[in-house]
Amino acid sequence: MTIQWFPGHMTKARRQIEEKLKLIDVVIELLDARIPMSSRNPMIDEILKGKPRLVLLNKADLADPGVTAAWVAYFKERGLDALPIDAVSGNQVREIAPRCKELFKDKIATQIRKGINPRAVRALIVGIPNVGKSTLTNRLAGKKIAATGDRPGVTKGQQWIKMGTEMELLDTPGILWPKFEDQNVGMRLAATGAIKEVLLNADEIAFFTIRYLAEHYKGQLMERFNMESIPTDLSDPNEIVKIMEVIGRKRGIIQSGGRVDLDKTSMVILRELRAGKMGRISLEAP
Ligand code: GDP
Repeated sequence: MTIQWFPGHMTKARRQIEEKLKLIDVVIELLDARIPMSSRNPMIDEILKGKPRLVLLNKADLADPGVTAAWVAYFKERGLDALPIDAVSGNQVREIAPRCKELFKDKIATQIRKGINPRAVRALIVGIPNVGKSTLTNRLAGKKIAATGDRPGVTKGQQWIKMGTEMELLDTPGILWPKFEDQNVGMRLAATGAIKEVLLNADEIAFFTIRYLAEHYKGQLMERFNMESIPTDLSDPNEIVKIMEVIGRKRGIIQSGGRVDLDKTSMVILRELRAGKMGRISLEAP
């Protein structure tokens, strides 16, 4: 699902989340573990207004574990509990309910002290498109929930999904827009598949990706494409294009005339990156 974000949609999305915030105790902010900052809504702190929040670094199965650990520490330093998960396999998903309850424990203690039977802690998942909101919702529900949240402009009745006995999740996640201003953010979102190529050229995204990999994941890059060496001067764009040409040749992506088809090679690079074929890679470090 892609959303063309316009100012009106952003206002509407924000208003929809603000309405839901009235119903819930804890926000589950879903980020992409490979690009936690780039997959974050730029106004999130302002929108959530201090609501207790658990940060989930989803798709951690695709991310570099060392970098993910550094992100967890980064969020902790800023007073936020962050948990790496994999919504597809369900890894660490069971940790979500206890962490949410922990965030709400003072309120629960107060209720008990007042002799009130504490009700279930109510949570809402928020995040940008494609970050895994519906995958996680379905996993927490233990079944497929029909609609994938509400697109700006589309509303439907919302229901509570029971997560164990003491937690409930709103079945329609809050959809937020990504950052647009920063070109590198756009590149990272496109490289991971969060936004569609049509907005940017595949070769530009692949170029960006290869440069990052050559800098940070040289060994994995060389191994995947069976390369003997990688140029050392990565500031020279021609050197990056040369790496892409080597990859194209290795994959036999040759046009008539014997030249490498860079567009097709770019698609292959991005497809393999997104499928985790190059190993676990993060495109952003704290
Ligand atoms: P939404 O737009 O936020 O609801 O995102 P979806 O739940 O539709 O997920 C977008 C894509 O990411 C789908 O292809 C999912 O299979 C995939 N996905 C979601 N969570 C994970 C995860 O933890 N690991 C991996 N590898 N893929 C995931």
